[in-house]
Amino acid sequence: MKIWVDDGFCRGHGMCLTLCPEVFTLTDDGYAEAITSDIPPEFEAATREAIECCPEQAIKER
Ligand code: SF4
Repeated sequence: MKIWVDDGFCRGHGMCLTLCPEVFTLTDDGYAEAITSDIPPEFEAATREAIECCPEQAIKER
């Protein structure tokens, strides 16, 4: 599973960080980014939850 955060949509709510802090972090600009674009299998379920819960649909799957 590969993902990326589109900073054109991200509004920095932080929902993704709450749901999966192993994968998402906030940049100094206040937008989320993926620590790794290649998600380890053990974090895929939490990452999918973050994708579904992102209010801006900013997390994209490659
Ligand atoms: S939940 Fe979505 S909008 Fe909020 S910080 Fe994460 S990627 Fe950005």
